[in-house]
Amino acid sequence: MSTSAQIVIIGGGAVGTGVALQLAEAGFKDILLLERESSLCAVTSPQAAGLVGQVRSSLERTKLAMWSVATFARLERESEMKPSWRQTGSLRLAQTEARVAEFRHMMAVAKEAGLEVELLDAPAAAKLWPHLDFAAAKAILFCPTDGYLQPADLVASYQHEARKLGVRFKTSAGVSGIRLENGRVAGVVTQEGEEIACAMAINAAGAHGYHVGRLVGLDLPVIPVRHHYMITTSTDWIRPDMPVLRMPDGTLYARADVNALLIGGWEPEAMSLDPRSYGLGDRLPAIAEDWPVLANFMEEFRPFGGPLCDQPIRHVFTGWPTFTPDGRFIIGESKQVPGFVCAAGCNAHGVSGSAGIGRHVVEALTEKDPSPYVKSLSPERFAGGFDWDEARRRAQHILETYYHIGH
Ligand SMILES: Cc1cc2nc3c(=O)[nH]c(=O)nc-3n(C[C@H](O)[C@H](O)[C@H](O)COP(=O)(O)OP(=O)(O)OC[C@H]3O[C@@H](n4cnc5c(N)ncnc54)[C@H](O)[C@@H]3O)c2cc1C
Repeated sequence: MSTSAQIVIIGGGAVGTGVALQLAEAGFKDILLLERESSLCAVTSPQAAGLVGQVRSSLERTKLAMWSVATFARLERESEMKPSWRQTGSLRLAQTEARVAEFRHMMAVAKEAGLEVELLDAPAAAKLWPHLDFAAAKAILFCPTDGYLQPADLVASYQHEARKLGVRFKTSAGVSGIRLENGRVAGVVTQEGEEIACAMAINAAGAHGYHVGRLVGLDLPVIPVRHHYMITTSTDWIRPDMPVLRMPDGTLYARADVNALLIGGWEPEAMSLDPRSYGLGDRLPAIAEDWPVLANFMEEFRPFGGPLCDQPIRHVFTGWPTFTPDGRFIIGESKQVPGFVCAAGCNAHGVSGSAGIGRHVVEALTEKDPSPYVKSLSPERFAGGFDWDEARRRAQHILETYYHIGH
């Protein structure tokens, strides 16, 4: 491997590989991605449920998700290595009048963004999910271009396409140091002691985003918060082409996993880690299955799922997606350390958002005057310091209120 690169990306999950492809497609050259594990997609990304939802309450987030969907659809159509993108559509179910009002707002945002959405009545929804009981739904919002994908396939697809554009990848190559010259990034050092000269280092280290920030003296509130979902055994009731379900009043999401039900949610009392409590070289603690929380997800689903809620559980997926205190990504170059760029703090949509995050990194690096939204994602907002206990509490709150109205 050459001992220099123009851009070094630190971390080979959905975000790092997605950023690699977007940069390469935007014309950036001489990009090297370093991943500490022996393969890409080895930490949080493979745990993701792969849901991709575009219906949001803000225009910017809707457009970011639409960019991701356009990318996934293109890769599925054109790449030899496909992300297993399934455009099943999605159904969002309201159980309260306040939620119905939120759907109206979301529909207005979707219209402004050019995203197709429509309200369905219960018989129309029942044609898409024949064994659900939609009587409890006060409104049903359908987005035909939503869907889901397989995160490991997405990362393989990003890598395949980025390689064709000259991006290099090295695994078992953890970054343990970043060398500065006159205050700006000049190189990275791997755990084997190899130094790679570079002009730019991109922090896509997921739950180690804080630690990679510390390598250049920055404090980044990239806070891992526990998340989990479960998959039932197979049943004849479910087909893989059924729309993704979101039941925000029950704080639940669900989709078909071949012929089984994948169901997860946002728990009311979240658990987080203080990133200062583990080191750059440490793995994150394993998460035990929390049956009371998982059982509660099923009970919240019962008004719609009925007997489906008694289907045995086959597998539980867990992990530590990272959250930020304001629920926004951290994207862009640090003013304090030129050449140090963030693509971190994904607030549990780093897989679905990955292509959009890559696009925003490109915008942050190429536009003289990026959009107000991209500016608002800059790491500078934490440059004045913050209270760690408060930051952690707020990051947990973002997960706890994930489907709350106005989130
Ligand atoms: C149970 C669960 C369900 C989820 N469901 C969804 C979903 O449906 N949709 C969605 O969009 N998101 C979902 N998420 C969130 C999503 O998984 C994350 O937002 C996303 O994986 C973050 O990607 P990443 O690349 O930042 O992190 P990771 O995939 O963790 O990648 C970071 C990489 O950086 C590497 N690294 C760390 N330090 C170094 C170093 N010093 N040098 C080199 N490499 C380093 C790590 O080894 C790792 O491979 C879910 C998460 C969980 C846990």
